[in-house]
Amino acid sequence: MVWFFEYYDGCGLAIKVKKKLYEAEGVQKVEIYETESMGKMLVIDGKIQLTELDEPFYHEMLVHVPMLSHENPRKVAVIGGGDGGALREVLKHNVERAVLVDIDRNVIDLSRKFLKIDHGAFEDERVEIAIMDGKEFLRDCEIFDVIIVDSTDPVGVSDTLFDREFFELARQKCDVISLQSQSPLIQKEYFRTLLVNSAPFERRDVYLSCVPTYPLALWSFIIGGEYDFSNLEERFERIKGTTVHYNPDVHRAAFALPEWLKKEVEACI
Ligand code: SAM
Repeated sequence: MVWFFEYYDGCGLAIKVKKKLYEAEGVQKVEIYETESMGKMLVIDGKIQLTELDEPFYHEMLVHVPMLSHENPRKVAVIGGGDGGALREVLKHNVERAVLVDIDRNVIDLSRKFLKIDHGAFEDERVEIAIMDGKEFLRDCEIFDVIIVDSTDPVGVSDTLFDREFFELARQKCDVISLQSQSPLIQKEYFRTLLVNSAPFERRDVYLSCVPTYPLALWSFIIGGEYDFSNLEERFERIKGTTVHYNPDVHRAAFALPEWLKKEVEACI
């Protein structure tokens, strides 16, 4: 019996593994596993990035919350997200152009070959792929309606996606941004840093999803910019029937924060 363990701060998660499908060392160490009960699993530098079982709880909330909070998102950039899950969700909308910017070609190539959660997104004619650092991309890129940041933890190569300069650049390049903002329970420092550094988006809010294979399951996101939730039901018609997790009720409920978290957010915004 083989188990994969991910350790957090004084606790962790164990997942039973059937076999390792591939491992590659490059910009990052990328591993893909077949698990006993959670489908395939992507691990980068020892940290679980997704399992097939719960990735929709993450990707659908990361993508549809900003996309349906914008009147008509036609041009979208996904920064990070080399597994293709966020891109898959973006393409459910009536977009004319989607650019995926990932620093590590291995993540894209191995995900396409072994995970296949992109459901053909990488072959879609509306998609362009840029292999580079997300902050460098923002310096010279066009203006997007929505930018979605699907990054790894803010250590190593993803550092650049968490600093103030990144958000200053992003503010000039989109109407609405969404980003994953880590566990507010066990990764408080990362969470606070993101809330503070995203200040160039003067209007911003925190929302939540349950992602069981992320540290302690409670996962946070930040949305910033000119978002509006007024026509969610009508806008949902654009993608109705394509989601397994997202709907307008879940969207609104995700912004209901418990008292301890409200205090955290108020202290940083
Ligand atoms: N949200 C998932 C998580 O936290 O577990 C992450 C999923 S996705 C696989 C993260 C992607 O961000 C990886 O493919 C990684 O290569 C990419 N990435 C990390 N730093 C980056 C950077 N500076 N610019 C662009 N992409 C980056």
